[in-house]
Amino acid sequence: MRCHPKNDSFGFLTLDEVRRRLAESVAWGVKEYYFTGGEPFLNPDLVPMLEATLKYGPATVLTNGTVWKPAWLQRLQAAEAASLYSLEFRVSIDGFSPETNDPIRGEGTFCRALEGIVKLVEHGFLPIITAARTWPEEQEPHVVGEFVRMLHDAGYRRPRLKILPLLRLGAEEQRTCGYLDSERVTPEMMDGYDRSQLICEHSRTVTDRGVAVCPILIESHDALLGQSLAEAAKPYPLQHGACFTCYQYGAICANPSAR
Ligand code: SF4
Repeated sequence: MRCHPKNDSFGFLTLDEVRRRLAESVAWGVKEYYFTGGEPFLNPDLVPMLEATLKYGPATVLTNGTVWKPAWLQRLQAAEAASLYSLEFRVSIDGFSPETNDPIRGEGTFCRALEGIVKLVEHGFLPIITAARTWPEEQEPHVVGEFVRMLHDAGYRRPRLKILPLLRLGAEEQRTCGYLDSERVTPEMMDGYDRSQLICEHSRTVTDRGVAVCPILIESHDALLGQSLAEAAKPYPLQHGACFTCYQYGAICANPSAR
């Protein structure tokens, strides 16, 4: 579910809407729920939304880690303890230091995100730290080592790290010129390919404007598939450059492991 995107083209989901969608999801056998944005914690109803969701299944929030309050974390800690299901936090940082993160995510964001991670750990959560791969692949062992060291030093003893491929969309499209016309998934490429790796194969994204194919293409003109999960349960042609990245890397939106 998409609670508050970065631009003004989508609005907040309401608590009533989330409750309605949760009830709707039961018939579809939905096994887990993700909340993303923009920054989902800017939605004043996110905490009750997560409390409601934990009655249905595991929930994950994708956040920049900078805006929550200790009282919210205490409520969420209690909600998870009372639930059969887990609550996961995914915190985005794109570098292991202010020098490597802030040029990408904004001045001061590294320190604020790290403070948020420490608060989560203090409340008993094991956040998944996600970073988009903005470095050459041969530097991966060094960069991952630096992330782990930084998180250890901050007191996060069992850090979970997910490195994401860079999607050439939005600001990255401007920076890199986006995808070449040749970078598209063809029918031949899908021969023998395990489609279950693609999140659009088994999930949909609820927004205040309807149900979209996936969170990656949310701004695309053809992403909105209908107003209900039933209307949106149709095949989607993998015709965007971003689909090429999904094809190469598989389940880029899923958690690395679920409890
Ligand atoms: S970007 Fe394309 S392949 Fe990836 S989840 Fe969305 S529709 Fe599917």
